[in-house]
Amino acid sequence: MHNKTIAQIAKDLENKVYSSVEITQHFLKRIEEQDKTLNSFITVTAENALQEAKNADNLRAKGEASVWTGIPMAHKDIFCTDGVLTSCGSKMLSNFVAPYDATVVSNFKQAGAVSLGKTNMDEFAMGSSNETSYFGAVKNPWDTSRVPGGSSGGSAAAVAGRLTPGATASDTGGSIRQPAALCGVTGLKPTYGLVSRWGMIAYASSLDQGGPIAQTAEDCAMMLNVMASFDTKDSTSIERPKQDYTASLNNSIAGKTIGLPKEYFSKDLDPAMAAAVRAAVSEFEKMGCKVKEISLPNTHLAIPAYYVVAPAECSANLSRMDGVRFGHRCENPKDLEDLYKRSRAEGFGKEVQRRIMVGAYALSAGFYDAYYVKAQKIRRLIKNDFVAAFKDVDIIMGPVTPSPAFKIGENTSDPIAMYLEDIFTIALNLAGLPGMSVPAGMVNGLPVGLQLIGNYWDEAQMLNIAHQFQLATDWHKQAPAGV
Ligand code: GLN
Repeated sequence: MHNKTIAQIAKDLENKVYSSVEITQHFLKRIEEQDKTLNSFITVTAENALQEAKNADNLRAKGEASVWTGIPMAHKDIFCTDGVLTSCGSKMLSNFVAPYDATVVSNFKQAGAVSLGKTNMDEFAMGSSNETSYFGAVKNPWDTSRVPGGSSGGSAAAVAGRLTPGATASDTGGSIRQPAALCGVTGLKPTYGLVSRWGMIAYASSLDQGGPIAQTAEDCAMMLNVMASFDTKDSTSIERPKQDYTASLNNSIAGKTIGLPKEYFSKDLDPAMAAAVRAAVSEFEKMGCKVKEISLPNTHLAIPAYYVVAPAECSANLSRMDGVRFGHRCENPKDLEDLYKRSRAEGFGKEVQRRIMVGAYALSAGFYDAYYVKAQKIRRLIKNDFVAAFKDVDIIMGPVTPSPAFKIGENTSDPIAMYLEDIFTIALNLAGLPGMSVPAGMVNGLPVGLQLIGNYWDEAQMLNIAHQFQLATDWHKQAPAGV
């Protein structure tokens, strides 16, 4: 039952193969049994989930069900959930019960979905391995001595371990695509502005975007149908006509042109990974696609620019965590300054503190022009590279990560090595473009992701291309041993 996709569960519920209560109980039992090892959930809301499932079954009995009624799923712990702990993976918010739902969460509630709980993540979504979580590292279900990727590692591991059929996630520099790749599941980062950020705890506001992680592109399309919505509560939400992302999944992709950026097949990429990605691309040639080498000449500037912009924005966003209004507060503060200082020193982990310091420095008078303004200029150059490339191609493809999942602890003492994990994912966030990771091979028994980069607002075509690949291959159907 747990290997079923969201699309299959929707059909089964409609055909009364099982009830929402039954499938919800099944996943809750799996979480109870398996998550001691994986640690992919921070909070499991079993009682709520069963109540929601019961309500869904009642609606169905009355003939009032829609596609999502009664389907279990989970939310990354970055999304505020009314009455439920919303920790963002941090000690700072380890006592924060959100007083309202994020728009993404209320969209799923309105659609009738059942929330199993909140998934583990790197603290405030800063990380590429899920090791910075206050609630402990998440394990990769393919090899529990390895990382699941980050920051949405809990969501990706939970889907790969079949503890939930789908989970929400967020991507600031790769946090949907990288863990999806390392865990062998499918993830989609939408165009900036498609999914409301309201109630999604801010890391770097101009880069953050919520999106789905699930087994297949079809499931991601179903989740995106719920997640994408214009929201007046988010000033960067863009008003566009509502789209059904499942409608064009079966279109033929013959004749499409795929661009392969030469900079993405550099020496940074493990040769076995390059071979797997090229083999995946040749599948598309069999389907009648044309392949063209392209250049994104400013790719090498993406990581340095990102590690100025993201820390700068996070240093501003995290200033609201001051121990006064909510979150962790130190014991017996001497005065206000002591309250601020100790609450923040105790509440934030090392990586978050590092980013706040880097960001505050980059924004300070005297350094602002040299770092922040410069990074913003680079950002425009990177965007221009993509705009030029999309004049000649329908989609861009490449690797998601330079290598398969690394060992827990392998990169923790070397922040630069950790930052380089995002070398192929970050440019897209700087440009605001949509991207996906699709399971596309194995290296040393570990999953490899193929990255798809679409043009602005081109999620439907990107999902169509990913779905056609999944009809022709079965990488997405492979599951870790024992699942
Ligand atoms: N690994 C990147 C970082 O630590 C990206 C994280 C993310 O996308 N949230 O900033």
